[in-house]
Amino acid sequence: MGSYISTLGTGLYQSYTATVTQATLLYQRYTARPVARFRRPDYLKWLKAGMALKCCGEGLVDFCTDVITTFHTTLITQHGPAVCSSPLNPKKMTYDRGSKSWRVNCACGVCDTWLQSIASELATNQYSWKNTDVNEWPLHPWQLAKVFMGDGKDPTNHDPADTDTAGFLQLIINCQLFANRLVEAKVKSVREVRNDILHSPNFEVTSADLTTYLDKMTDLLQEPALQQYASARRAVDEINKIDATSLDVNVAAVRDHESIMYKQMVVEQTTNLKVFRRYKQTLIVIYQ
Ligand SMILES: [Zn+2]
Repeated sequence: MGSYISTLGTGLYQSYTATVTQATLLYQRYTARPVARFRRPDYLKWLKAGMALKCCGEGLVDFCTDVITTFHTTLITQHGPAVCSSPLNPKKMTYDRGSKSWRVNCACGVCDTWLQSIASELATNQYSWKNTDVNEWPLHPWQLAKVFMGDGKDPTNHDPADTDTAGFLQLIINCQLFANRLVEAKVKSVREVRNDILHSPNFEVTSADLTTYLDKMTDLLQEPALQQYASARRAVDEINKIDATSLDVNVAAVRDHESIMYKQMVVEQTTNLKVFRRYKQTLIVIYQ
């Protein structure tokens, strides 16, 4: 296990995609052996919490896609379908304090009109112009959504299917288009749940905490604006079954899910090596 840890640590200094691939492959190789952690109830509850989190994201997909697609359609109506004619790439956005507006270093006429419309929907200072491809704004609605997801998102996130639960929660909180559609406290509560799960120092969740986490997720998904979507209703059903699900009946499936959890953590840790060092110690304790 030591080589896994040290290789993972070294990998974190390499490119983002290579790191995730490497960590996942190494982890899968490691889990080819039977391990005692599957007999630890609170570890299995941590995995269940992660499974519920994934279901929660699946319950938010259609709602978020609808809101962003409608926004994109509106902007196409306002600005037309023209795309940027400049070879300049990537483009750089700067905030002009004098005019209190965002500026892009492209004089094509298309980029700036789209930028003004997108920037007008910033609800917080949590946004990222690095995540988005300006040239694709008139072409792909999800490039608008990515602006509101903050730094450090998976660069392979090109559409809703590639987006994790954290990304949807960031989008809902940081984009003005979602204001008043859901009870904000419920969204933020699930965001805290997500952080508690992914930042768990010992990869464990108690029975009481698991119940609380599942309740908060279903509470959000049962908001009227979400319940009109079959995906949200289905997610509630699935989350309600998770507590009673026996994870030890299918070890292979559990290991697959572990890989998903670890991949998410590696993605996050790539942006915060200090946090990674704490996980590294925890991983050593767990797997020694
Ligand atoms: Zn342009």
